[in-house]
Amino acid sequence: MTKVLVIDDSPFIFKAIKKALTPKGFEVVDNASNGQIGLEMVQKYSPDIITLDVTMPVMDGIETARELLKLGYSSKIIMLSAMGDEALIEEAKSLGIQHFLSKPFKAEQMLEKVQLILEGKGSAV
Ligand SMILES: [Mg+2]
Repeated sequence: MTKVLVIDDSPFIFKAIKKALTPKGFEVVDNASNGQIGLEMVQKYSPDIITLDVTMPVMDGIETARELLKLGYSSKIIMLSAMGDEALIEEAKSLGIQHFLSKPFKAEQMLEKVQLILEGKGSAV
């Protein structure tokens, strides 16, 4: 089963992702509320896909992405951005992050990104 880890400080986003992906056979394993907890959970679950929020307390999405890149997760990350995150998105792209989704998103959009990753395709938006 494809394991998805959600690193996001919004429990509503976690619920939305779970609702979008669980009926399609994905296992949404857990919700880390910041990057620091996220990195611990990455070690614990070895997820196939990680959704990564840009703006979070303690350790934000950019700093977390840097650490995840060192662990080889660059192509498995979907970065979730909100209005105002544009500069940080550019930074994430320059780091090599390939998949982005802006909030709010529809279930089909999340599913589409997940499938792109599973097919090994990049999608610079
Ligand atoms: Mg946030």
